[in-house]
Amino acid sequence: MIDYQSIIEQIHNDISLRKNYGEVASYIPELAAINTEKFGVSLSTIKGQTYHTGDWETKFSIQSIIKVLLLSMAYSKLGGQLWQRVGVEPSGTPFNSLGTLENDAGVPRNPFSNAGAIVVSDVLLDLYEDPRQSLLAMMRKVTGTDSIHYDAKVAASEKTKGYRNVALVNLLKSLGNVHNDVEQVLDLYLDCCSIAINCKQLAKLFMFLANHGETIDGQSNLLNPSQTKRMNAIMLTCGFYDEAGDFAYKVGLPGKSGVGGGIVAVLPGEFSIAVWSPRLNEKGNSYRGLKFLEQFTSATGQSIF
Ligand code: GLU
Repeated sequence: MIDYQSIIEQIHNDISLRKNYGEVASYIPELAAINTEKFGVSLSTIKGQTYHTGDWETKFSIQSIIKVLLLSMAYSKLGGQLWQRVGVEPSGTPFNSLGTLENDAGVPRNPFSNAGAIVVSDVLLDLYEDPRQSLLAMMRKVTGTDSIHYDAKVAASEKTKGYRNVALVNLLKSLGNVHNDVEQVLDLYLDCCSIAINCKQLAKLFMFLANHGETIDGQSNLLNPSQTKRMNAIMLTCGFYDEAGDFAYKVGLPGKSGVGGGIVAVLPGEFSIAVWSPRLNEKGNSYRGLKFLEQFTSATGQSIF
């Protein structure tokens, strides 16, 4: 039996004592105001145990991590038909890249690039009467708390400076892969990125990906087992922008990061783990979050490989 509590505390202490590196995402002014030394961890196991340390109760901005849930909502309804609109290949490019889109005829390489998530947001507007409400209701139900919410300040802040996302949605529209009004699509995408959540809630939320698509309370199936396998494969290959290979190599778990400094990763059949530390490395991934997960899978020997 692995003593998760003492392992996560030990690694958290060890990393906290060392110098922290990286910058916060200044292109979202509201995120630049955050206390950069925050550092929280939460782990939920499939057997129902939870372990936490550090700032695990403090809320932060979910940012790109939400792309996994947006994709799940679209994929659960459309199945493989979705892949006509967005691919499943790692891009090897930064999250906000416009570079390959024109040559790829407006079909983003994968759903975890901004271009891909914008297309998925467009799909959600066609599939759900009120996608914001459906997303929030699902998140609240799975985590058993009403305290998860959209952060209007963060969303508004990103809307003032999100020039690349404005460019992306317009390019996608001109290439025929956005069907709804560009403003409506971008608003949905940025509102979803703004959601405030803590490590405990995030770990709990992602348990379905460790549990064949079923929520941990056994109340609903967000995805079927085959879709869950595919979702984890996309997280492993595309979950960390152009650092996905490095994450797979060092950590060995499917996961997803966001520029709010959060990272969530799962070991199918075992656990889900969320780490948050706001300073980002040059690829846009949490510096301490990556270090923590690398040490965690090394110390426990728990990875998919
Ligand atoms: N809202 C962010 C953006 O679209 C999400 C980026 C991220 O977390 O990677 O730029």
